[in-house]
Amino acid sequence: MSEATHHRVVIIGSGPAGWTAAIYAARAQLEPVCYVGVPKQDPSIILPGGQLMLTTEVENFPGFPEGIAGPMLMQMVQKQAERFGTKIVGEDIVRCDFSKRPFTLHTSADKTVLADAVIIATGATANWLGLENEMRLATSGGGVSACAVCDGALPVFRDQPLALVGGGDSAMEEATYLTKFASTVYIIHRRDELRASKVMQKRFLDQPNAKVVWNSIVIDVLGDTTVTGVRLRDTVTGEESTLEVRGLFVTIGHTPATGFLRDTGLEFDEKGYIVAQGDSGRTSIEGVFAAGDVADSQYRQAITAAGMGCRAALDAERWLAAQE
Ligand code: NAP
Repeated sequence: MSEATHHRVVIIGSGPAGWTAAIYAARAQLEPVCYVGVPKQDPSIILPGGQLMLTTEVENFPGFPEGIAGPMLMQMVQKQAERFGTKIVGEDIVRCDFSKRPFTLHTSADKTVLADAVIIATGATANWLGLENEMRLATSGGGVSACAVCDGALPVFRDQPLALVGGGDSAMEEATYLTKFASTVYIIHRRDELRASKVMQKRFLDQPNAKVVWNSIVIDVLGDTTVTGVRLRDTVTGEESTLEVRGLFVTIGHTPATGFLRDTGLEFDEKGYIVAQGDSGRTSIEGVFAAGDVADSQYRQAITAAGMGCRAALDAERWLAAQE
């Protein structure tokens, strides 16, 4: 193993939260090093660039009146972070020791890194059904998405029948949003009862173009380049059928990327998200900060993640100054 390198600020993650933290930390002359992760093919695990790498068109990030492709937005923010001197390392952080300072981080390339302050911005991945054609059409922009608020308003989905899998509050919220654009929105739910709160259910079910397909799971996504339908199996009778739709939204929960932090003593909530201290980017461990979806199960937007990245970097800067 090579000798450990020592940095003032190490940022783990390279989505909007990580890059924004890097911009602020670099401009504060903290010479941040950003661990962006090893490139991966599987969208169900964290990618360098985060969830926006799976988003074709981002229409709700301020400053881009015509919209911008998710990967392009991330490239631009990365450039901005690099312009102020952020160093980028294409390795995963696989283990952290926060028991003493400087903190010790271990990388996927078997290297050891020491850090005075750490900003965790590893995000959360949307859960997927795990079907081959689902992944193919999600990564190619073929009409499968895990974020209706991000993609639902795109012209390809206008006045088209759309399907959404899920039965929780997020599913209701996202499906209700889709009813504004789609001809019909089918919620496909594996049971005969929704998990969502009554008020959220009602908000969806009150829409004239809302329908629920009960006791059903999606077993395949149909279409060569774009979604033409979904193959369903009835969970009670086992019967199979085809539902013609032009888009499939998967809203079955998220998993925060906190597995590598399990034994660090950090405080997590019951779903595994990092708990922030009050209205700040501070965590339960002094000198360790968190930003973006890894600490936010509620909003999960690029712009909220970017704001949290700014906040964590400012908190880190102030904390480091107080240590001197
Ligand atoms: P959730 O409550 O865990 O719901 C996930 C849904 O996906 C469940 O209905 C579940 O079905 C279904 N599901 C899970 N795995 C599946 C699979 N493999 N195949 C098919 N269906 C599957 O997650 P969420 O809706 O993202 O909500 C997360 C938290 O945020 C909740 O506490 C929620 O109340 C909160 N939230 C609140 C609001 C709001 O109040 N405005 C909005 C959004 C979210 P089963 O029901 O059969 O298990």
